[in-house]
Amino acid sequence: MTELEIEQENKAIAAEYRNLLRISYQTLTEDDKKLIRLAFDTAVDAHKEQRRKSGEAYIFHPIAVAKIVAAEIGLDATSIAAALLHDVVEDTDYTLSDMEQLFGETVARIVAGLTKISRLKKDTDVSLQAENFRKMLLTLHEDVRVIIIKIADRLHNMQTMDSMRPDKQVKIASETLYIYAPLAHRMGLYNIKTELEDLSLKYTEPEVYNSILDKIIDSKEEQKEYIKQFNDSLRDALTSEHIDYEIKGRPKSIFSIRKKMLKQGVTFEEVYDKFAVRIVYNCPPKDEKFIAWKIYSIVTDNYRPNPTRLRDWISSPKSTGYEALHITVMGAEGRWVEVQIRSHRMNEVAEKGYAAHYKYKQGEERDSGLDMWLAKLQEALENPDVNAVDFVEQFKLNLYAKEIYIFTPKGDLKSLPKGATPLDFAFSIHTQIGLKTRGAKVNGKLVPLSRTLKSGDQVDIITSENSKPNANWLDYVTTARAKSKIKAALNDDKKEIALEGKEILKRKLKQLKITFNESVLNDLVVFFGFKTSQDLFYRAGLGNISNQKLKDFATARSNAFLNFFKKKIRRQSNIEEAPKGEITHKYDLLVFGKEEEKLEYKFSPCCKPVPGDAVFGFVTVSEGIKVHKNNCPNAVSLQANYAYRIIKAKWIDSTQQEYAANLVITGIDQVGLINNLTQVISSLHNVNMKKLSFETNDGVFTGNITVAVKNKKMIDKLIHSIKKTDGVHKVHRL
Ligand code: MN
Repeated sequence: MTELEIEQENKAIAAEYRNLLRISYQTLTEDDKKLIRLAFDTAVDAHKEQRRKSGEAYIFHPIAVAKIVAAEIGLDATSIAAALLHDVVEDTDYTLSDMEQLFGETVARIVAGLTKISRLKKDTDVSLQAENFRKMLLTLHEDVRVIIIKIADRLHNMQTMDSMRPDKQVKIASETLYIYAPLAHRMGLYNIKTELEDLSLKYTEPEVYNSILDKIIDSKEEQKEYIKQFNDSLRDALTSEHIDYEIKGRPKSIFSIRKKMLKQGVTFEEVYDKFAVRIVYNCPPKDEKFIAWKIYSIVTDNYRPNPTRLRDWISSPKSTGYEALHITVMGAEGRWVEVQIRSHRMNEVAEKGYAAHYKYKQGEERDSGLDMWLAKLQEALENPDVNAVDFVEQFKLNLYAKEIYIFTPKGDLKSLPKGATPLDFAFSIHTQIGLKTRGAKVNGKLVPLSRTLKSGDQVDIITSENSKPNANWLDYVTTARAKSKIKAALNDDKKEIALEGKEILKRKLKQLKITFNESVLNDLVVFFGFKTSQDLFYRAGLGNISNQKLKDFATARSNAFLNFFKKKIRRQSNIEEAPKGEITHKYDLLVFGKEEEKLEYKFSPCCKPVPGDAVFGFVTVSEGIKVHKNNCPNAVSLQANYAYRIIKAKWIDSTQQEYAANLVITGIDQVGLINNLTQVISSLHNVNMKKLSFETNDGVFTGNITVAVKNKKMIDKLIHSIKKTDGVHKVHRL
C-alpha cells in the first residue's frame, strides 16, 4: 500500500468510529464515550497487522459488529466496547488479564465468553458440532450479551462472505440457519433474524434466492400501488380522528416466502401474503391501546376482517416483548392482507427487541421476560443427562414453537409453547407443583395429563403429597424444563432404591459371613454380570437378587479355584436368565404331617394360597395332595365330610418361587390412577403383574389384577401400598 492509501484508510477508520458513536441507540454519557474510545484504540492497536480475506484492514470488522450492537440491537456502552474487542484476545497478543486491567471485570467477562466460543473446536461431526452449540448456549447464563454480540458478529460475517470459499460459505450459512437465526428470533431481534435467514438462503440455495429476489423487485411497483390505494381509502377517517400515523408496506422476507412455497406447494405468484400493511402511529403511552382499537375500527369499516385471524398482542404481549394488533382483511382484488397496527414504541420494540423494551421500562419495575427466559434456559442446561444433539434440537424446538396462552385459576396469563400439556403448565408454575401433580382440570373439567392445551384454556392443577413422576410422564410433556425435571426426579428415585439395596445387600452378606468391602463388591458386580455397583444396588433394592444366588456367590468365593471358573460363572449368573423354578424344586419348603415330610402337592385353584398362608393339604383320589387355605370357602365342607383325607401342612421357610394372587381393587376413576397402580405394583415391590383388567362405571372403577409374589408378607405389603394410592377405596384378595 502506498502512503496515500494508508492515510485514506486511516481516515475511513476514523469516520467509521465517529459514525458508531452517532448511531448509538442508547444515549452515551462522557464516561461511556471514554470507555468506547479506549476499546477502539486498543482494538486498532491489536489488529493493526491483520487484514481480512477481502484485503481491507481487520479493524473494520469489529467496528461493524459494534455498530450492529449499538444501533440495530441498541445495547449499552459496555456491550459496544466488548464488541469492539471481541476478536482481540482470540487473534492477537492481548490477554484476558489485559482486558480486565484496561476495561474492568464486566467487559473482560464478556470478551472471555466470546473467546471461549471461538475456541470451540470447529468440527463437521454432527454430535461434536451440537456439543459446541451446547457449550455456546451455556455461556448464555454467564452473560446474555455474549450471545448477542456473537449474533452481531455472525451477521457481519454473513454480510461479508463473498470472498470466501463456496464450501465454507455453505457451512457457515447452514450453521446460521441451525442456531443463530433461531436465537435471534427468540431474543426478539426480528430484523436480524430475517437478514440472517435471507443471507443463509443466498448461500445455500443461490438460484432460488435470486429468482425470488428478482420477482420481489418486479412486484415492487404493484405493491406500492396497493399500499397507496389502501392509504387513500383510510386517510379521511384517520385524519378526522387526529391520528398521527404512517402506512407502510412490509414485504415478507425471501426466506419466509420460500418456506411458504415449499410448505404449501405453491408458486411465488400464489403466495398471497407476500407483504403486510403496517400502520405505525404516534401517541402518548396511556392512549396506545385505545388508539390501536380505534384504527382497527376504521380499517374494518372499510375492509371485511377475517375473525379467526385477529391477534391482540397488545393485551397479552409475546414473551419476546412483541406488542401489536394484527388483523387480516379482505383487501382489493379479493386478496387477504394482514394489517399490523402498532405504536411507534411498539414498532421499536418489534425491531430492536429487548433493548427498546427496557428503554421504555426504565424507572418502572422491569418485568424482564428475557431474564425469566434465561433462568428457565439455565435450568434446562443444568441437566447433564441429555445428549448434546437432543439438547440443541430440544432447545431449537422451544425457540421456534408457537406460543399459546393459558390462564391460571386466578386468571393470570402464562405463555407456553404450542403442544404443551397440563403437566407442562404445572412445571412452568413451579417444579414442586409439577412433581406433585395428581390431576388437572381444564375449564373446570378433569382431563388426562397428556391433553394438549389450547390458547385461552384455564388450567387448575390438582396436587397431592403422594404423587410423584413416573416414566410415562416423559411422554406427556413437551417443554424442555418439564422433561429435565421429570428425568431428574426419576433418577433420584433410582438412587434412593439403590441406597436401600446397598443396605439390604450388606445385611444379607453379613448373614453369609461375608464382610462387605470394595473387593467383595467388585466380585459381586462381576458375578452378577452388571456394569456398575450402582446397577447391583438398584437390583438389590428392587428385590431382584435372590438369596440362593448370593449363597452361590459365597460358595464360589470360598472356592480356591474361583478365578478358574469365573468365566463360566459369569455366563451362568445373568439373573435375567435364571429360571424362576430352578431353586424351589430343590428346596420344597411346604411340609406335611407330624413328620414335616416333603411331599408332592399342588395349590388348589379355588383359593390360590401363597407361602405364608395358613393352609392344609387335602388328599385327592387322582391328583395327589391339593393345598387349600384354611379360610378357603370349601374348607368347611371338605373338613366336615372328608376329615380323614386332611393332612396338616406347614411352611418352614419362604422360597424364591412365585405364586399367583388375585386382587380386586375398587375406587374412584381419576387421571393417572392406572399408572400409579401399575407403578406401585411393578416397581415399588418388584412384583410381577400377570394379568390386569380395569372397568369403569360412572366414575367408579374396578380393577382385577393377578400378581406373582414370593410370599405372603409381600402381598400384605403390596395391599398396604395399593390402599395408600390416591383414589383407591378397597383392596381385597380373591
Ligand atoms: Mn469476529
